[in-house]
Amino acid sequence: MERAMADGDKSDKTGELERILDVQRKDFTAARPEPMETRKDRIKRAIALLVDHGEELARAMSADFGNRSHDASMITDITGTIGFGKYCLKKMDHWAKPEKRSLRFPLPLMGAKAELRYEPKGVIGILSPWNFPVNLSMAPLMQVLAAGNRAMIKPSEFTEGTSDLLQKLVSQYFDEAEVAVVTGGPEVAQTFSSLPFDHLVFTGSTQTGSKVMEAAAKNLVPVTLELGGKSPVVLGRSANYEQAGERIALGKMLNAGQICLAPDYMLVPEDREEAAIAAVQLGVHNMYPTLLDNDDYASVVTDRHFDRLQSMVEDAREKGAEVIEVNPSEEDFSSSNTRKMPLTILRNVTDDMQAMKEEIFGPVLPVKTYSQVGEAINYINRRDRPLGLYYFGSDAAERETVLSRTISGGVTVNDVIMHVSMEDLPFGGVGPSGIGSYHGPEGFREFSHARSVYTQPKIDVAKLAGLKPPYGDTTRKTIEREMKKA
Ligand code: NAD
Repeated sequence: MERAMADGDKSDKTGELERILDVQRKDFTAARPEPMETRKDRIKRAIALLVDHGEELARAMSADFGNRSHDASMITDITGTIGFGKYCLKKMDHWAKPEKRSLRFPLPLMGAKAELRYEPKGVIGILSPWNFPVNLSMAPLMQVLAAGNRAMIKPSEFTEGTSDLLQKLVSQYFDEAEVAVVTGGPEVAQTFSSLPFDHLVFTGSTQTGSKVMEAAAKNLVPVTLELGGKSPVVLGRSANYEQAGERIALGKMLNAGQICLAPDYMLVPEDREEAAIAAVQLGVHNMYPTLLDNDDYASVVTDRHFDRLQSMVEDAREKGAEVIEVNPSEEDFSSSNTRKMPLTILRNVTDDMQAMKEEIFGPVLPVKTYSQVGEAINYINRRDRPLGLYYFGSDAAERETVLSRTISGGVTVNDVIMHVSMEDLPFGGVGPSGIGSYHGPEGFREFSHARSVYTQPKIDVAKLAGLKPPYGDTTRKTIEREMKKA
């Protein structure tokens, strides 16, 4: 990881970031209006980069993590992002169409026109995290480019090899004036978030998100914040427990639980707690019969993140939780330096435990019980609004009660995480789990400026309605007409 920068290095780096922003903004301004074909060509180049170098990027991610499944990386970071780029190519002409808006009678008869145009904003900054380092840099990029913008990307310092490779590849596929990657640690990130971009997309933790918003506010830069939080799973009594257990286990084991949308904790009926835990255990046994030498199972990204998870489990144990390690082949984790950790289920958790205070972001799964589903709903509503919420069950009335009485960024019913991979659905959080969204048509709008264009007819509308001085009877008649209750 990068060391703290000396003052000279810092001002060099700041100067370099400002220079790239200046180059991109000047080129953006000079090139307007750019045809849709230019935007599409950029997306096609981003797709080509991923097709040509996907395997290499997956290897870089595995090296950065210690171990990360090549296949899983190809699915989540490479093909998932290629698919999103193709979706943008297919939809962007439709998204970019100007919309006619209605006007008050009789303006249309007089030849007035109202139109909404989605125009590019300019240069957009993309700040991304380490957990899906390629996807969370390149997927926002696809939509940023679809909307006709230029982009500067600052990927995470924790996946340094991947970030360096991304920088090299982007410079091969793009002119610096179109897309540029800059690398560095928190200091560079801080400088980056202080640049006067036309929009800034940040994906990362809630704590950093708040700092990013503060820095952006100084220049009134609009932000999209894709943050984290504690996404709950509500298991209804009517759920298919075996299926739910396997799906929850996968959501918690994929990338070793280091997913913003990973199910954070489970809320289960008290009389079904044993069945729920057994179902998750069975799911782990079926999908990951071994863990240490199993390439399908990822390591925790750094020693610091690993120690944090270990101390979270110890803290829960000390405060009275029952700790259940799901270790299918009873492997000896203590003598391994792979930073792999078995799924650890915590029973009898209380709110003073670290595991219930902060986002887990690893293979630890607290279980809480309820007797009536209303208790689960109240528990969720007492906490920050989560990024995702998951309900398992076939009881439609109960499902609607849970959905209509809680608030979350998104929802998957009868599975976890999956709503994020539905390209046409917007993805984002609410409040502490995020601001704004991308994916879907909403993402295109997020990175566009909705510009209102009104065309006034030749006829003097203001005079006809008595809206310009000298005011008189016509004016008062107009006012009288308006002064009616709805
Ligand atoms: P992080 O907040 O530590 O870092 C994210 C990025 O912010 C990095 O590029 C980092 O260099 C930069 N950064 C660090 N300090 C900064 C500062 N002071 N000012 C500006 N930028 C700064 O997050 P992380 O640990 O890399 O990722 C994990 C978090 O991200 C989790 O909370 C997870 O839920 C969240 N996340 C959210 C989504 C989503 O789409 N909502 C997706 C993945 C991860």
